[in-house]
Amino acid sequence: MSSSRIGLGLRPFRLRALPVTLFLLAGGTVLAAAPVEAGAIPAFSGERALELIVEQCALGPRTPGSSGNAAVRRMIMKAAEGAGLQAIPLCFQVPLGPDGTPIEACNIVVSAGPPGGERLWLGAHFDTRPWADRDASPGRRNLPIAGANDGGSGTAVLLHLIELFGSSPPPQGVDLLFFDAEDSGQAHDAAGFCLGSRHLVGTMGDFGHPLSAGTPRGLILLDMVGEAGARIPQEGYSLELAPAWTAAVFARAADLGLTVFEAVPGRQVYDDHVPFLLAGVPAVDLIDFDYPQWHTSGDTPDRCSAATLGQVGRLVTDLVYRP
Ligand SMILES: [Zn+2]
Repeated sequence: MSSSRIGLGLRPFRLRALPVTLFLLAGGTVLAAAPVEAGAIPAFSGERALELIVEQCALGPRTPGSSGNAAVRRMIMKAAEGAGLQAIPLCFQVPLGPDGTPIEACNIVVSAGPPGGERLWLGAHFDTRPWADRDASPGRRNLPIAGANDGGSGTAVLLHLIELFGSSPPPQGVDLLFFDAEDSGQAHDAAGFCLGSRHLVGTMGDFGHPLSAGTPRGLILLDMVGEAGARIPQEGYSLELAPAWTAAVFARAADLGLTVFEAVPGRQVYDDHVPFLLAGVPAVDLIDFDYPQWHTSGDTPDRCSAATLGQVGRLVTDLVYRP
């Protein structure tokens, strides 16, 4: 994601075949939790999510077009297969090869619960940044990052959710959106970021697309959600363009007593939720942007904690099983 402030031109554009007005109406809904039988909500394990960060980092950098990127895609497909869920790769070309030549990138959509209808979307990018351009050491700035927190953490939470879905099918339709090619932009040039999510939003109204059969209640994006001692405020674009959805998600966190989440305005971050907001889909970016190791060689698994991941996982698990 990019930290640069950009003019978003806050007029939602109309997608080819999508009922944008329905999305806007959905943004006004409140996530009043329905009572659920005791034991019906599976326990999300922060320790397991941390293991899944370590496993991703062991694959090496997951930059678009790399062997590590292909390996993490296989990891997602295998997790879905193990849980008996359908996973659909959606591949496209991005100009991220040598001298801007096109290479293939692939988003992956994993669907669970009843088909069609109103659905909860949960997203994370699984690619990692090709350069540690904010590193204190100039000699490391051209090297790829490990991406434990930036890329690894949100992906780990979604991977563990897939495991939970295998034994406890969700009561509502849920789509997990794994984004590729989020983090290969140059600093201060938002156009180079979020290529995967932009492609997904631009095509999701197409006939036969896995997201075209349902209507989103909203998207929850998980990015940099693993730092030890993390603090997650209400990201600025989410608050501005999806205030009801953002408030509802943070209200649930407060109900659960999750101290990582603070219902105070945060800075604006151009991230994978922005293309959805511009298309009229309620979207909230859960992001701890106050991370000193952001885009440095220090973004390693030892910066992440099972306690933080456990709180984030508990929030999304509760939202899945108590719609
Ligand atoms: Zn990043």
